[in-house]
Amino acid sequence: MRKILGQTNVLSYRFGSGSIKGIGNEIGRFVVVTMNIPWKVTRNLLGGTPEEVVFIDSVDQIVLDNKLLNLPACDTVVGIGGGQAVDAAKYFSWKRSIRLVTIPTVISVDAFVTPAAGVRVNHEIEYVGQTSPDPLIIDYDIIRTAPATLNIAGIGDLLSIHTASFDWEYAESKNQSKYPFSTSAIKDARGIIDDLYEIIPDIRDITDKGILAIVQGYMKLNTICLPINHYRVEEGSEHFLFYELEERLKRPFIHGHIIGLGIYLMSRLQENKAEEITKIMDDVRLDYQPKSMDLKYDDLFQSLINLESFVKSRPKLWFTVIDDKEISEDWISEVLSNLSF
Ligand SMILES: [Zn+2]
Repeated sequence: MRKILGQTNVLSYRFGSGSIKGIGNEIGRFVVVTMNIPWKVTRNLLGGTPEEVVFIDSVDQIVLDNKLLNLPACDTVVGIGGGQAVDAAKYFSWKRSIRLVTIPTVISVDAFVTPAAGVRVNHEIEYVGQTSPDPLIIDYDIIRTAPATLNIAGIGDLLSIHTASFDWEYAESKNQSKYPFSTSAIKDARGIIDDLYEIIPDIRDITDKGILAIVQGYMKLNTICLPINHYRVEEGSEHFLFYELEERLKRPFIHGHIIGLGIYLMSRLQENKAEEITKIMDDVRLDYQPKSMDLKYDDLFQSLINLESFVKSRPKLWFTVIDDKEISEDWISEVLSNLSF
């Protein structure tokens, strides 16, 4: 067992092509929590025989609690797949107080390195419990079976440090930070983006190095955010635009793509090195254009018009540039003119 990078919730890890092989022989009686496609690509590599394979189609807490009732006795829960399968496995592991092994098959979201399980309660995602994978397995060959655009989307929640950290500084300058301000947290978070600059081609091409960089970026983010107990360096106005869109349009988005669009727009509202961060998103081929996510011009226009009242009506949302910088129709027309719809 190795520990890396200070405080993260990851107890141990195995990174590398073929690192999944035989894990099923080492973890006692185990249950696999997965979906169809991830199970197809991993079932013959895992080793051992699971007590049961639980297929997940929802992270609704009531649905999960029902599945939990029928879960056989076991020593380990193995989560294999994307965010939902991993979150469900985390939930079961937490509820049963048993060992967790996570095997992400795509790195589009960071569920596999966050301690809490994202479950849906009355249609809203809530983060519950506390889990630690032992080990977290990142098998590069398995990750590469997922569509490239989804793996590249994983960079969205790291590049959001660009706009979110600016928002935190901005809030602090207006005495609206809500948390003890930490220049070192911001400096360390920006260091994560600096590290990414150097290996953009590797992330674009989903090389071993590129996959590792995203995973380590997430883990470093945890070492910054877990001790201070909030993700303000990474979550700001770019996420709030997404929350508005999701609530009003009632449709899903690929997280990293819509966050990329949020970074594009909010870095411009902030007048915060917008060209620089846009170039990174272009170079890495992050699909942040509205056209690629079938987002209509009028819908996005309306979101931007509505954004200030949206955040002000939700006291849970932190103070950001949205709160007191004017978002005029002229500005919106201007900023949308270079996007493709
Ligand atoms: Zn996010």
